[in-house]
Amino acid sequence: MSDNQLRLVWIYPDLLSTYGDQGNALVVERRARQRGLDVARLDVRSDQPIPTSGDIYLIGGGEDRPQRLAAERLRRDGHLHQAVQNGAIVFSVCAGYQILGHEFVNDLGQRQPGLGLLDVVSVRGEGERCVGDVLGDVDPRLGLPPLTGFENHQGVTHLGPTARPLARVRLGKGNGTGDGTEGAYNDTVFGTYMHGPVLARNPQIADLLLKLALDVNALPPIDDRWYEALRNERIAAAQQPA
Ligand code: GLN
Repeated sequence: MSDNQLRLVWIYPDLLSTYGDQGNALVVERRARQRGLDVARLDVRSDQPIPTSGDIYLIGGGEDRPQRLAAERLRRDGHLHQAVQNGAIVFSVCAGYQILGHEFVNDLGQRQPGLGLLDVVSVRGEGERCVGDVLGDVDPRLGLPPLTGFENHQGVTHLGPTARPLARVRLGKGNGTGDGTEGAYNDTVFGTYMHGPVLARNPQIADLLLKLALDVNALPPIDDRWYEALRNERIAAAQQPA
């Protein structure tokens, strides 16, 4: 961070913003401002260059065709790699998550290269589309409460040795591999299948991104009773017999 200003970059809202993913940018921005930070938010359309000086980058989900276009343009642009090398934090959802991996299967049924920023590979699931509520216990190293969200994807994502699962599902499919994992992360790059928007439902993830970007261990608390009520409602609903 320079000049005490947090630079938040929302990548390709014209292609990747389904199921309210725009809310993720709003939540990070608001929670940063609530901590007295000056925030510069940049929404970068797919015909514009990605800036390399951002602190946090957000990428949302999308249908198969926009996903293919977004991956092509991000690879051609090349700047997200540079940003990550500069220490930027990246948080991605669904199609965005698949794009950050080594490859995925696109709308033409072809294996398409991703950005290789996460050690994951996505294939087209043979079974039913994964649609519905998700409840997951986060990797204990991240110190976060159970996550809730909503998934809708056909892709199935396999993790390589340098990607850690973000969570283990109690409800839902997550990565869809049948091993109960949901999402993936390494030191600075995160991916999840959860929409919701996921940061509105799990503001502690937004705070994790802020802590990593600011290089601090704690942030001033915020009154999160409303969010907690929503989480508790979803957990209770998950425990109801189907
Ligand atoms: N097109 C991808 C899939 O179906 C991602 C969908 C999404 O982003 N919701 O797997």
